[in-house]
Amino acid sequence: MRIVDQLHEQAQALFDALRMGSLDHARGGVTRDTYGVGEDYAHTLLAKHATQLGLEVKHDHMRNTYMVLPGKDRHLPAIVIGSHLDSVAGGGNFDGAAGVVSGLIAVQALQQAGIQLPCDVVVMGVRAEESIWFQVSYIGSRGALGRLQPETLNALRIDTKRSLADHLTEAGGDPEAVKRGDAFLSPKNVRAFMEVHIEQAPSLALTGFPIAIGTGVPGNFRYPKIRIKGEYGHVGLGRRFRHDASLAGADLTLGLDAIWAEWERQGRLMACTVGEFHTNVERHGLTVVPGEFSMSLDVRAYAQPDLVELESAFLALVKEVEKKRGVMIDLGLRASAEVAQADPVLTQQLRGCAQDLSIACCDLPSPASHDAAAFCAAGIPFGFLFIRNPNGSHHPEEAMATEDFMLATDVLTRWLMTQQDT
Ligand SMILES: [Zn+2]
Repeated sequence: MRIVDQLHEQAQALFDALRMGSLDHARGGVTRDTYGVGEDYAHTLLAKHATQLGLEVKHDHMRNTYMVLPGKDRHLPAIVIGSHLDSVAGGGNFDGAAGVVSGLIAVQALQQAGIQLPCDVVVMGVRAEESIWFQVSYIGSRGALGRLQPETLNALRIDTKRSLADHLTEAGGDPEAVKRGDAFLSPKNVRAFMEVHIEQAPSLALTGFPIAIGTGVPGNFRYPKIRIKGEYGHVGLGRRFRHDASLAGADLTLGLDAIWAEWERQGRLMACTVGEFHTNVERHGLTVVPGEFSMSLDVRAYAQPDLVELESAFLALVKEVEKKRGVMIDLGLRASAEVAQADPVLTQQLRGCAQDLSIACCDLPSPASHDAAAFCAAGIPFGFLFIRNPNGSHHPEEAMATEDFMLATDVLTRWLMTQQDT
């Protein structure tokens, strides 16, 4: 019997408790809103569990939760295992949370085996990863690493319209520390970040592998609030007189889709998503030529030069559409995240651990963004494990078999055990 097998029920109970406390009856699934009641619930629940395990529990200025199994030498840089505990509204129970529960189960397995590593093993519940709430990625992890732009504190949560600074203060965090760039975590006190996460596409389910070793996280550039200003007109206005903001939005979107199709034809990896796309509800109507249009844009790729190339193609497209439609395009705030490659040594070690345990797995570049990328940008190497999920993520139908979860946790535990002499 594998060491983690007896912890199967424990894992199941934690997932059940997470789900029960954050059920969203209106939308289905769970809602663990960033710096809100749902996210708080998850942090409190797991911190309480960690205390029962005898772990040290602490928080930083972002109110991330750290659950620490002390090592022999408290001064050595720690191993941090973590993921996020927030979700989108009406999301799935496992996206993010699986990584934190996996860390706790792995630590419990070490305790039961009577193993103390040379360094601390820290299980981190990360705050605010789901960028839908504040339209900024990796708020919790970047904040912990002292790399969150201070102006992010002014970002408004989409539903409450209250600022991040406000929400952070209410949760017990410290916006001033963000302004100072305080780094609670750095390459000096963290030697590796390990993240377990459900896959957000069905590729493992299709290929039959229960888990995969993540090789990289894409970088992105984002324009959350693009505003196009044309001229309102009546339906009777001839085509040549129009400055239709809505058609300009369509041109931009289809232009980007054409670029994507071309990249796909060449076998190059990228993705672009226009998640918001609308006229002004206050003024739009059946017989109105739209004079305003709003849209969002997220473009991602796996190599930094690809992102540069895509952004310059996009900016050229903006100029072209402005000219063609006689409109002004205000791109608004720009956000970005760098491409992050998983550490080759850690990746090789994880492959070796899976092989030792006879667990079938493959390599998988992540299509989505993950906190591990924020650690990578701060100079901390990361290792990544994916768990099979046939139904996609960020909705109630997201699925993960606890058996698959235990396989990933088994690999993680074995990896920790190989760190006894390092
Ligand atoms: Zn996630």
